[in-house]
Amino acid sequence: MSLDPAVISNLVKLSTAFGAAFLAALWLSLLIWTYRDIRNRARDPLMRILAVVVVAVLFLPGILVYLIIRPPHTLEEEYQESLEEEALLQGIEDSQLCPGCGRRVQLDWVACPNCHTLLKKRCHQCGKLMELPWNLCPYCGTPAPGMRRENMTMDEALSSLPTDNNE
Ligand SMILES: [Zn+2]
Ligand SMILES: [Zn+2]
Repeated sequence: MSLDPAVISNLVKLSTAFGAAFLAALWLSLLIWTYRDIRNRARDPLMRILAVVVVAVLFLPGILVYLIIRPPHTLEEEYQESLEEEALLQGIEDSQLCPGCGRRVQLDWVACPNCHTLLKKRCHQCGKLMELPWNLCPYCGTPAPGMRRENMTMDEALSSLPTDNNE
């Protein structure tokens, strides 16, 4: 059987058209993918435009170039990492150094386990931890025993005195 040259040329045209349409669709979807991907990775509008332009101009090799030079982390990942770093720093700030031996001690320790330096004292009223120089419990307002209450007004001083005159 012999094929009509007109049919063959039509087939070639048709397949060329299909191929072109496929390539166009691939090109467009790669552009969309690149745009979505760079949007998650870069805030800089210039970077976004550049990435899309590279893929638009170079097509498949452009995707390869983009995959190589794109920022390795998405903005979401960077945000999570910064949160973790912050938490880590917070953990370091939460501890302090022992004034006696310089070792790291926790904020809620009463004494240094290494050199036995007293770090905190407990309120005799509510049992909460207080800094050593404090002479008043910030939680319940009880003055530390043996401490003179400073800045006490005359009224407060009088009202704290036992009154023996019954009216
Ligand atoms: Zn110590
Ligand atoms: Zn207290």
